[in-house]
Amino acid sequence: MRALTWEGKHDVQVKNVREPKILAPDDVIIKITTAAICGSDLHLYNGVIPTMKKGDILGHENMGEIVEVGPNVKKLKVGDKIVVAFDMGCGKCYHCEREEYSVCDNSNPNAYMAEALYGTSAAGLYGYSHLYGGYAGGQAEYLRVTYAETNSIVVPNDIPDEKVLFLSDIFPTGYMAAVNANIKKGDTVCVWGAGPVGQLTARSAFLLGAERVIVIDHYESRLELARKAGAETINFDEDENTVLDEIKYLTGGVGPDSCIDAVGLEAHGHSAMEILDYAKMSVMLATDRPNVLRQAIQACRKAGTVSIPGVYGGFLDKIPFGAAFAKGLHFNMGQTHTQRYMKPLLDMILEGKIDPSEIISHRIDITQGPDAYKNFNDKKDEYRKVVIKMH
Ligand code: NAD
Ligand code: ZN
Repeated sequence: MRALTWEGKHDVQVKNVREPKILAPDDVIIKITTAAICGSDLHLYNGVIPTMKKGDILGHENMGEIVEVGPNVKKLKVGDKIVVAFDMGCGKCYHCEREEYSVCDNSNPNAYMAEALYGTSAAGLYGYSHLYGGYAGGQAEYLRVTYAETNSIVVPNDIPDEKVLFLSDIFPTGYMAAVNANIKKGDTVCVWGAGPVGQLTARSAFLLGAERVIVIDHYESRLELARKAGAETINFDEDENTVLDEIKYLTGGVGPDSCIDAVGLEAHGHSAMEILDYAKMSVMLATDRPNVLRQAIQACRKAGTVSIPGVYGGFLDKIPFGAAFAKGLHFNMGQTHTQRYMKPLLDMILEGKIDPSEIISHRIDITQGPDAYKNFNDKKDEYRKVVIKMH
């Protein structure tokens, strides 16, 4: 079958690879109908996530039609159309029982790698490095879905894929980011990043009762889409050194009730601190560029909440922890417990409360995948969200 594979930094190719097989009794195999490229995939593309190997199949935003089921699978059948959570929960461990699927104890066979780096391991992820299990991703014609009953949701056959595909990752991610931000009715919320995650975070913040949402980015077309959802915006290219002043001004000197970092470890910017981050990362003296996290901590009102859906990988430099402590901030973060939100968010889509497909900018076939990675990375103003039509 054809698949998009990681061949090295800035090198994604279409390769012919072996089709997946049922390996465990809880598995199903799906014929991928639609998959997407995520902002997280760009961290792989840019070579900042360790333990990728040449030939690894990419893709963790996947949906398709079941073509084969393992012997223990009872609730799913051949022909069902399912959306698959990007993180794998075994459904039975201490954490899965508490719906903390992204930190499942059992789904990462390479847990020892993560233990060396982080002390303990999180869940396995599709197409996201050997540190996270070395599982094949779904930017391919077929995908093996593990612990399939726990990690997928059946969607109606007559609903267009595009409306429900993002239940696999970025819609639950945006929603959990907003839940993690402790939003109360009437609150003011600031969101860094107007990418797909930032967009769905802003929309979720309104759904959870925020009165004002301020979105920060430097791509005008992305900011425009945020304004369409009712957000106010700040373009940090126009005001790099005054983002914090601007937020203060917009919030009457108090700061937002919640600050959400939907950017993560590859933040851009031109401040002295950012230039130092770039320099240190380029000579491997730093693992992450945490400028947005610094700003979120500085901007947040006293006793407010900082929520971090943006991905971080290693050891972060010059975090104003003294300010966080003095202000009594609350912190919430992590990979999304996708499975917890799939059902309620599917209902919201079916009820017409939200249509996540409005963030799609490009629809491609698999042969256009390598170019799409390059363009999504280099031309974010145009390329907002790319979906790959497979079957
Ligand atoms: P994306 O790359 O399309 O968007 C990131 C946006 O951040 C871009 O528009 C960029 O211009 C903006 N940005 C960069 N520097 C900034 C700064 N200093 N201030 C404000 N904005 C800035 O990515 P995405 O798909 O929207 O994903 C966003 C983040 O969420 C990524 O780190 C991704 O890995 C992460 N993510 C996390 C989870 C999870 O489970 N927690 C799931 C999916 C994605
Ligand atoms: Zn993702």
